[in-house]
Amino acid sequence: MANKDYYEILGVSRNASQEEIKKKYRELVMKYHPDLHKDDPEAAKKMAEINEAYEVLSDPEKRAQYDKFGTVGPNVGGFERGYGPSYDFSGDIFSDIGEILRDFGFGGFGFGTGARERVERGEDIEVEVTIPFKDAVLGTEKEIPIRKKETCPVCKGTGAEPGTGYTICPTCNGTGFATKRQRTPFGEFVVQTTCPTCHGTGKIIKEKCHNCGGTGVVEKLSKVTVTIPAGIEDGTVIRIRGEGNAAPHGGIVGDLYVRVKVEKDPRFIKEGNKIYYVAHISVPEAVLGTEIKVPLIEGGEEVVKIPPGTQHGTEIKLRRKFGVRRPYDYVIKIVIDIPTTLTSEEAFYYEKLKEIYETKNRKR
Ligand SMILES: [Zn+2]
Ligand SMILES: [Zn+2]
Repeated sequence: MANKDYYEILGVSRNASQEEIKKKYRELVMKYHPDLHKDDPEAAKKMAEINEAYEVLSDPEKRAQYDKFGTVGPNVGGFERGYGPSYDFSGDIFSDIGEILRDFGFGGFGFGTGARERVERGEDIEVEVTIPFKDAVLGTEKEIPIRKKETCPVCKGTGAEPGTGYTICPTCNGTGFATKRQRTPFGEFVVQTTCPTCHGTGKIIKEKCHNCGGTGVVEKLSKVTVTIPAGIEDGTVIRIRGEGNAAPHGGIVGDLYVRVKVEKDPRFIKEGNKIYYVAHISVPEAVLGTEIKVPLIEGGEEVVKIPPGTQHGTEIKLRRKFGVRRPYDYVIKIVIDIPTTLTSEEAFYYEKLKEIYETKNRKR
């Protein structure tokens, strides 16, 4: 095995990061795994070569040695195990492949792991809820109706008619997995798969449950209560573990993903951790001061004092009694409306004011 170019085998550059090597390796596993090419001994050969390259390059110590000497020698690390007829399935690299395949949803390949690890998983469910602006700011609890698969109440998910019991699966003798032997140029490959007869449970139902037909799950309309935290942003997805579909044969329940849409409220503008309400006041009100009513986010109104001499753009922060929890501040932004049309009476007084200001300016 000397002088092979492991970098070339994996198709990575000499300065590839561990991440890149792992990523590339996954791709190659998915492409050349012998289980995917049962009739092609070349694939097994290729896979062995890939494994060899990965075992060296994924180990910084071996990689350094390889970079230095162009070989890792026959007695370095994993190569002691060799690729002979007695392939060691418990080796690091194979648990690594097992892990990688599980990541890809190929749980069924099985590398030296028992039936327990190969339970089925129910599907995840995604739903969308729309909440008013107020609830997004203050937080709320929402009950969502969802059609989902639940554990059958009659058989408690076992799929067996109550009182009928089981027999041991004849295909796998109760182990839950089947083994297949595969010949490759490197010897015999033993591949474990989930037993197709019992789906990994090791048991065969004598009589199927009348309620679920033996699957252990029934579809039902149920209600899930979702806690929506105060200050949630539009488009946030909340994950609720174990509220998705139940898996057949007593597997793991999927998750529920709740996508939260927040309705806009035309009265309020959210910017960062501030919520603005724009209050329009007139010129005399800004000059002399006034009181205005502002709507509150939680509903209702509050009277706010505008002091004399308030400038355009002034921000008045209201206190937390207005119901907005941290980190939000509820801020009233003052806009002074300059009139563009005047009644004759208003025109008269504005003219008067103007005269006064002009006289004042002349005196200066
Ligand atoms: Zn049932
Ligand atoms: Zn079985």
